[in-house]
Amino acid sequence: MHRFITASMLYDLVQCPHRLYLDIHEDPKKRDPESKFVELLWERGTAYEKEVISNLKIPYIDLSSEEHEVREKLTLEAIARGDPLIYGGCIRAGDLLGVPDLLSRRDTGYVAGDIKSGSGFEDISSDDSDGKPKKHYAVQLALYTDILEKMGISAGRYPYIWDIHGEEVVYNLNSTPGPRTPDTLWQLYKDCLNQAHRILTLEEYTLPAYSGTCKLCHWNTFCKHHLYQRNDLTLIPELGRAKRDTMYSYVKSVKEFARTDVSTFIKGKGTVFNRIGADTLRKFHLRACLLADTRAVPLIKKTPYLPTIEKELFFDIETDPMRDICYLHGFIERTGNNPGTERYVAFFAKTPSWDDERLAFAQAWEYVQSSLPAAIYYYSKYERTWWRKLQKRYPDIASESHIEEMFDPSKAIDLYYDVVVPCTEWPCNDHSIKTLASYLGFKWRDPSPSGAASIEWYNRWIETGEPNIQQRILEYNEDDCVATRVLLDGILGLLSE
Ligand code: SF4
Repeated sequence: MHRFITASMLYDLVQCPHRLYLDIHEDPKKRDPESKFVELLWERGTAYEKEVISNLKIPYIDLSSEEHEVREKLTLEAIARGDPLIYGGCIRAGDLLGVPDLLSRRDTGYVAGDIKSGSGFEDISSDDSDGKPKKHYAVQLALYTDILEKMGISAGRYPYIWDIHGEEVVYNLNSTPGPRTPDTLWQLYKDCLNQAHRILTLEEYTLPAYSGTCKLCHWNTFCKHHLYQRNDLTLIPELGRAKRDTMYSYVKSVKEFARTDVSTFIKGKGTVFNRIGADTLRKFHLRACLLADTRAVPLIKKTPYLPTIEKELFFDIETDPMRDICYLHGFIERTGNNPGTERYVAFFAKTPSWDDERLAFAQAWEYVQSSLPAAIYYYSKYERTWWRKLQKRYPDIASESHIEEMFDPSKAIDLYYDVVVPCTEWPCNDHSIKTLASYLGFKWRDPSPSGAASIEWYNRWIETGEPNIQQRILEYNEDDCVATRVLLDGILGLLSE
């Protein structure tokens, strides 16, 4: 059967090349059912697209409900007429097939666009990710642009996204995705396209790689089975696909790596492996040794700074990136290291409106102020990044310097970046709060706890108003806060040994 390369194939390939491989060559019956969160993303994407189109104030032709073959013919006719905006068109060149949401006429031809129910750029998960193009959007837009170029009707490599805020975000495909990446987005697209061709024709065989992407992937169970069976090197925290592939001809499994004399790979500050320095390799080797030893315990590499303040707040937020809203601020409060004083305090946005987001933020801010002096513990940069964002959104609640003062590292500790990463090692496959707190014996009350699941619950709660669902969200958030406390206590226990 002749197969076309489509935008969604490149989207998947950017997330994980093995996903494309399995989608094409593996039995679909072996997939997990799609997660409710992924289904929610699809529904929200479709609903948002319809809403945007129905509110359009400019003339357009709608081909979205036509059959594929007819659609392509009608698209070509619309282009020949010079229609200014084509919605739901279909374009093709060679083995490339594109169904861009939009085709917009410019002076010299057409550019393609997609409607996305999310931010046009990277979502804020870290302080430095805001404002960068999304590679998975870029390759899709580049495929449409490539087809337009091959058809001789491209107005340039400037496709665009209409994002959740109603903004038109232009993707300059001749630019690089970030300062540390020398290749342009166009080169990234070309590399992905070549790899897709190789995967399609079985010239390239890919391997699974343990990563955060796996959690929402329908091959999760299938791949996990193979990863553990192979004792794959990506089971070492942060080693990842690229480094595994670089090391693969020398060492194939965690156990084999643990048995190896790592000095044989080291040359001065470098190693025989491209782009892996000596210190990084030693760190991975230590992690491999911990994983390979069934009696291994976590290690303290150096003593972390931890404040000695009587009151402690363990802080965790819940957000819905599709609505760009922070809907819950949760705190576990403890005084004098006494479990009897522990209580959960939460501030919940009752509707997904900015008014209620503002109210919840104001209440959480007031609560923190009234709790001071207190040591604040959170896990990774997300909470701080979001509070900075909320401050910009609602500057009358707290000033920039107030927020910076609250997150002053002398009393606010990012347990991940300030403690776990620089000071500890664990016999675990990753350093997520779920993995480390579970390792320490903590159990979430919910049978399937995850940030993605809580977003899906929140959306269901908005639709139905069912108190049980709200309770589930609160319990999940409370357990995340308790898990942060469990992790701190676990680290303190290691320090005292
Ligand atoms: S489960 Fe992970 S490794 Fe497997 S296809 Fe999905 S993302 Fe790739």
